[in-house]
Amino acid sequence: MAPRTSTSTGDEPVQTSDRIQPGRMPAQHLEPGEQEADLELQPRFKAPDYLGSQKLKGRIALISGGDSGIGRAVAVIFAREGADVAIIYHSSDEDAEETRRHVEEEGTRCLLLRGDVRDREWCKQAVERTVQTLGGLDILVNNAGYHKHVDSIMDIDDERLCETWEINMGGYFRLTQAALPHLKRGSSIVNTGSVTGLRGSADLLDYASTKGAIHAFTKSLASNLLERGIRVNAVAPGPVWTPLNPSDIPAQEVAEFGRDADMKRPAQPEELSPAYVFLAAPSCSSYITGIVLPVTGSVGSI
Ligand code: NAD
Repeated sequence: MAPRTSTSTGDEPVQTSDRIQPGRMPAQHLEPGEQEADLELQPRFKAPDYLGSQKLKGRIALISGGDSGIGRAVAVIFAREGADVAIIYHSSDEDAEETRRHVEEEGTRCLLLRGDVRDREWCKQAVERTVQTLGGLDILVNNAGYHKHVDSIMDIDDERLCETWEINMGGYFRLTQAALPHLKRGSSIVNTGSVTGLRGSADLLDYASTKGAIHAFTKSLASNLLERGIRVNAVAPGPVWTPLNPSDIPAQEVAEFGRDADMKRPAQPEELSPAYVFLAAPSCSSYITGIVLPVTGSVGSI
């Protein structure tokens, strides 16, 4: 008998909790300017089964890409753990306001910072405004990201190549450089990588390359900052139901999104966010640095 490589042999989405997560996505493409609020199936970010226990009490976190998707879920769960949160976002004001509302409902403060992580000066200002408004900085979550599927490497011109690298990798560098003077022993950086950075991706050549680089950056920076007592780790998500893919791929492919995971469905953002708490909170992970934690819905690490 051939060895089984998957937990599932059928075609049905796999559920691993009493909270049943959506198995099939709607065939909906998001047009430019549309945001999370426009998704027919709203991503689940509230993590109602997750009870906070003050793991981040009194801490201040800055999260790039915090208005929607994974970043929103992280903002809300960090607030549930007692952190004040500043979120960087590019353009979706309505999404950002919704995130602020949910953070404040958890009982902590939320600062919205609209801008572009490609702009070094703006990144510095975002960090300074966080420190001045919220009173310091303890946790940086580098999470803002961009991708566009293409069939061939020949379709990636210099402009496109630079854009992907400037947002995904350049943004992480710039925010880290701006944040570092404020971080101290016990502080933590959590980067969002990707399963595409572990496995590669045939139609996300430039994006997958940035994600592999983010994993190497995570390990390198962890070594570089070790003596200062600042930990650096990454989460590598598999497919997650957020605006990112519906904004990029055609509607009929959106309907299939996540089916190639062993669990045959995408994650909801609330299935990712606890991993960020784990890596950010010294009470959970004080002896862990330089790891890339896969949260992929597939068996094994890659
Ligand atoms: P999302 O669309 O909700 O988030 C992307 C965020 O990036 C948005 O908040 C947007 O404002 C921000 N952003 C984009 N360009 C920016 C710029 N120039 N300046 C400032 N902010 C900018 O999607 P998401 O899926 O939650 O993505 C979050 C992270 O997760 C990304 O790094 C993405 O690569 C990664 N990821 C996502 C998936 C997935 O399937 N959704 C899988 C693996 C990794």
